[in-house]
Amino acid sequence: MEESSVRDAETASEAGGEDALVGNVNKLVMSPPGCSGAPRKGHLVFDACFESGNLGRVDYISEFEFDLFVRPDTCNPRFRVWFNFTVENVCETQRVIFNVVNFSKTKSLYRDGMAPVVKSTSRPKWQRLPAKNVYYYRCPDHRRNYVMSFAFCFDREDDVYQFAYCYPYTYSRLQHYLASLERRNLPYLQRELLGLSVQQRRLDLLTITNSERGKKLVFLTARVHPGESPASFICQGVIDFLVSQHPVARILRDHVIFKIVPMLNPDGVYLGNYRCSLMGFDLNRHWQDPSPWAHPTLHAVKQLIVQMNQDPRVSLEFYIDVHAHSTMLNGFMYGNVFEEEERVQRQAVFPRLLCQNAADFSFSSTSFNRDVVKAGTGRRFLGGLLDDTSYCYTLEVSFYSYMTAGSTAPVPYTEETYMRLGRNVARTFLDYYKLNSLVQDSVPAHIQREGEEPGCQALLDPRTDRFKLSMFKMWNVIAGGFFTLHCLQKLHISLTLKTFTLSDLSNRRMKSSSRSKITTWFLLG
Ligand SMILES: [Zn+2]
Repeated sequence: MEESSVRDAETASEAGGEDALVGNVNKLVMSPPGCSGAPRKGHLVFDACFESGNLGRVDYISEFEFDLFVRPDTCNPRFRVWFNFTVENVCETQRVIFNVVNFSKTKSLYRDGMAPVVKSTSRPKWQRLPAKNVYYYRCPDHRRNYVMSFAFCFDREDDVYQFAYCYPYTYSRLQHYLASLERRNLPYLQRELLGLSVQQRRLDLLTITNSERGKKLVFLTARVHPGESPASFICQGVIDFLVSQHPVARILRDHVIFKIVPMLNPDGVYLGNYRCSLMGFDLNRHWQDPSPWAHPTLHAVKQLIVQMNQDPRVSLEFYIDVHAHSTMLNGFMYGNVFEEEERVQRQAVFPRLLCQNAADFSFSSTSFNRDVVKAGTGRRFLGGLLDDTSYCYTLEVSFYSYMTAGSTAPVPYTEETYMRLGRNVARTFLDYYKLNSLVQDSVPAHIQREGEEPGCQALLDPRTDRFKLSMFKMWNVIAGGFFTLHCLQKLHISLTLKTFTLSDLSNRRMKSSSRSKITTWFLLG
């Protein structure tokens, strides 16, 4: 997430536990006190000495219960959220309770039903634990910290079980994915080494386009906050879509240059940190003055963006930084606040279009702000640097779930649905550019808002020509409204919809997803 967790940190203790926790547990055997000799079956063995692993300490409470301590971010004890560890040497039907006792955050989606994810050797696909097995409460022990307890029943003696805060997406996984892309030898995809991290890991840059001359440019970054693994699934969804043979992807490659930095903080990801780099910096607070030795990856990305911004051959139009959010549902965006109303309205167009393409994206949760604490973020810094035809956003997605218009309960995100959101983000650029090129230089001076029927009627003159139609489309997106039946009749459009009829449109009970399909069709049509 983008915002400061200063308030959370104040209410939780500063240190990770009784002792400073600096390393991960390494094949730690939890034999009952007083038990000597070789561990027997059922004496659990905890381990977090692997990539993106995090578990700092385990306390034996009873044969059935263990207190677990998150290892704080390297060089920054304030952040303790991400955990990722294995348990082995279990007995079949062994029931245990794990208490994670030193989270640095108090507000959490655990209160809303979020649960840790689990997999095991014989079941390698990650799943969320049932919410009924998870409890989140303020504990009288542990300095009244918030504790997340979950019950688990081991069922296969030879399996190694792995538990994590959310679906892990490691540095190595990204490297394998990028290598597999490279092996396809796609003429429109280029992978470059933009720089190295403090620990000499790769900072990769992908360029996806058919030709780099005189084009609009979209810049996307992810994983500045290393524990926000959903951002990587979204980023992979964007890349998968853009390199695909989908007709929308082909058109986008012809008209737009996409530059993507999939992992801005590779050391933090590798180390199993939640928010910081190896040296304990929240890189998303250092955009104003990144140092080449303390923040080399950020420094390299900033240099590239500044340089592209000065290049008259390209027009940098979008900067989107992808994050995950620990207290909100759905996908949503943060944008900047501007003095000019017209610029504010233009900035709202992309999130509105995305809302129509992605049922899990919420425009109502999208907000525009200028908080002081966010001054060093990529969105805020670049919002000030780039000219007024550029848009800078933070794209956030819930660590847990989304609500759609028709759903009565939150739908937990999976790896696949995170990637689907990424594909929908990519596809939305075509909606944006189609819309934009139709109405180039003709954005209405006063943009009509939803419900302002006279304005609507004025736009929808029976003699509607192509220009008026595009004005109406722009209006409709900005107003966030679906055109009324009245508007449609005024438009005199011959409805050639294959799957929807006018009577469907007038049916008020029609599902909103169908409505958004119509709107999408309408915008693309
Ligand atoms: Zn973040």
